[in-house]
Amino acid sequence: MRYIYLFEEGNKEMAKILGNKGAHLCELVRIGIPVPPGFIISTDACRRYFEEGKIGEDIKKEILDALKKIEKMTGKKFGGEEPLLLSIRSGAPVSMPGMMDTIINLGITDEIVEKMHDKRFAYDAYRRFLAIFGKVALGIDGEKFDELLEKKKGEEGVDESNLSTEALREIVEEYKKIFRVPSPYDQLFIAISAVFNSWNNERAISYRKIKKIPHNLGTAVVVQAMVFGNLGNDSYTGVIFTRNPSDGSNKIYGEFLINAQGEDIVSGKRTPLPIEKLREINPSLYEEICSVAKKIEMHYRDMQDIEFTVERGNLYILQTRKGKRTAKADIKIAFDMVDEGIIGKEEALLRIDTGSLAQLLHKRIKKANRRIASGLPASPGAAVGRICLSADGAYEKGLHEKIILVREETSPDDIHGVARSQGVITIRGGLTSHAAVVSRGLGIPCIVSCNIEINEEKKEIVADEKILREGDFISMDASVGEVYEGIAELADAEFPEEMKAILSWADKIRKMKVYANADLPDDAKKAMEFGAEGIGLCRTEHMFLNPARLEIVRKAIFGDKNSLNKLLEMQRKDFIEIFEIVGEKPIVIRLLDAPLHEFLPKYDELLEKKIKGEMSEEEEEIFETVKKLREENPMLGFRGVRLGIIKPEIYAMQTRAIIEAAIKVKKKRILPYIEIPVVSDANEIRIAKRIIVDEIEKIFKEKNARINYKIGTMIELPRACLVADEIAKEVDFISFGTNDLTQTTFGFSRDDAEEKFLRDYVERGIISEDPFAILDSKGVGELMKIAVEKARRANEKIEIGICGEHGGEEKSIKFCHSIGLDSISCSPYRLISARISAAKAVLS
Ligand code: PEP
Ligand code: MG
Repeated sequence: MRYIYLFEEGNKEMAKILGNKGAHLCELVRIGIPVPPGFIISTDACRRYFEEGKIGEDIKKEILDALKKIEKMTGKKFGGEEPLLLSIRSGAPVSMPGMMDTIINLGITDEIVEKMHDKRFAYDAYRRFLAIFGKVALGIDGEKFDELLEKKKGEEGVDESNLSTEALREIVEEYKKIFRVPSPYDQLFIAISAVFNSWNNERAISYRKIKKIPHNLGTAVVVQAMVFGNLGNDSYTGVIFTRNPSDGSNKIYGEFLINAQGEDIVSGKRTPLPIEKLREINPSLYEEICSVAKKIEMHYRDMQDIEFTVERGNLYILQTRKGKRTAKADIKIAFDMVDEGIIGKEEALLRIDTGSLAQLLHKRIKKANRRIASGLPASPGAAVGRICLSADGAYEKGLHEKIILVREETSPDDIHGVARSQGVITIRGGLTSHAAVVSRGLGIPCIVSCNIEINEEKKEIVADEKILREGDFISMDASVGEVYEGIAELADAEFPEEMKAILSWADKIRKMKVYANADLPDDAKKAMEFGAEGIGLCRTEHMFLNPARLEIVRKAIFGDKNSLNKLLEMQRKDFIEIFEIVGEKPIVIRLLDAPLHEFLPKYDELLEKKIKGEMSEEEEEIFETVKKLREENPMLGFRGVRLGIIKPEIYAMQTRAIIEAAIKVKKKRILPYIEIPVVSDANEIRIAKRIIVDEIEKIFKEKNARINYKIGTMIELPRACLVADEIAKEVDFISFGTNDLTQTTFGFSRDDAEEKFLRDYVERGIISEDPFAILDSKGVGELMKIAVEKARRANEKIEIGICGEHGGEEKSIKFCHSIGLDSISCSPYRLISARISAAKAVLS
């Protein structure tokens, strides 16, 4: 096996063995870009290093052979008089910026420095080498080197680039007291081992965990002849993007330093100049950089992030990689590249990172203080507000000031406070927990499963060891799930012009219809604005989630006729409003599916009151009912169709509200899809259908009018998947409720699993992804596949969709397309990304 590759011997497809940086350096050489000569030690060598605990003798020999070739190309000798100096850089197969180590200016010793001609440069290179080698290869505290440097800068009263030769020589003398300088060849092999070892430093390991990069890939090592940006005022170092990474405009963007090395930019020790300044200082060099940048961009057909060095007027490229960009820039660049004829529409769509599109629709954080906590991004957007630990407090204060509600978890009892908050943070719960679902519905930024502690008694929270009191300001970016200390600066949502065109390309390609989950008129409006072709799920219980209605719903569930009538009035009005907005598009209205614990007062709290003797007569009555209805396991309890069958008056009332509203909005031909939730057997549907159809026929007679409607069901239990053929014979449509289907297939509680063990499971790789966020195609998906096949065989006209959270996520959408679903439905803010994902599913 071979372990070493000259730059001339590789190409961009070889990132797995040469690392991302190495493979692209090879590619640059291949297309004639000026790159300082070098070679790459492969990831195979790294893995062998870990197995054997040392660099094999055969590999060392290959390295020395390659080094000879570099000497020949540069005309310089390693360890010689005007020596070849090397940079030794890490480069993993997947870019891990800044996570691993690099050593530069390697190959210098006392004897060599004495022989070098340009003394200032020689001592500058030597002191830089000693500091980085001491720190990275020998593990010496970097502060020691920095302190000595700072001291000298203070004595001379200048910055680093203006230190005198004498000062640099003195720094070197001081540094040499810290460790003994090895010979050039020893330096080389110690440095290579150090870079291999940096694959397993803490930073790199946590980065891989977060980015789900396998731990067994290993890093390649790029060994390259140094070129120097610190040889005087005609030397430079800099970083450029071929287009603007924040707004996407087609103009190079970047910064540079005069008379400096690349690490001076990265370390932030000196403030770089904007690249436009180079145009004034050295117009022909600026033009040359622009033209090389364009050539690289055209070759990759994508925006690139490029590092360069200019040594005495000669330009060298040291690295190119795909440029990271904002969602806004992503869209503009994709559109412009189609417009410029660089890529086709299909490729542009495939390139769009749908995961970050939500950024475009919400406020975001422009500038924030320290990050103090993070959690799951449950409902996107950014907010600033004062911490409030109770829903009642948020309700009161939220009228006059900005509040962020911080709770262990939320329940329907908190809804009034949630509605008046700028943002919600909970410690417990996953992406389909109550707080997540309700906040998304209300369009309020929400982070769940957040790593903070609440001290109710002291009215404090603790986040990253910082204690904050109720009333203190915090900021949150729920699009990424991060919490910051104090007041952050927010930027408004910016929906790029180019999006419309890109969406129209996507809509022409996609096969699945895209609907929205919308419970309230405002959601429905948003849904229409973002291009929904209908409403795929209207959760009627969410229409009850305001404090005034909650009481009535409770009473209705307890069997109070009067309350049921009041609800009928309210629901009819709600539906009229939504129908007016949605018009003739399909609208799936789900009959009540309230896990009872979400609607009842908390038993423990009532019990406490009772024990303390603080209970009113009315509360006594409620307490008795709650005691009777209380369940050990409400998520598997008296909910969905089960409640509908045992208390038929509720489904009858809802059916009446729907049909009367549809008849009332006569101008438009409303097409309600009435949906029965949490079904496990066709018999349940038969009974529920009887209740629904009888009520509808009654209304048709009363009103002397008829409308079209459809009856369908949710499939959200494994058994329902397995008997989908029997179910399909009874209905016009089915929709996969993959939130509950995931919960019941895994047996993971959607409210508790995240914080208790799921995060750990994902981190440890026991399961690769959070199945509540990304559909588990292996298990849950297999059940769906069975259901689709059975259902279509039994009823070829049946419409099949999905309305669980997965309906807005790219990978899950791809799966839904692959098993032949007719539609997907997601919250309004995910529609844009769902439309593009559905097109990407067809294209890939
Ligand atoms: C589901 O279970 O996937 C679903 C859409 O219903 P809910 O989230 O309301 O339980
Ligand atoms: Mg459900």
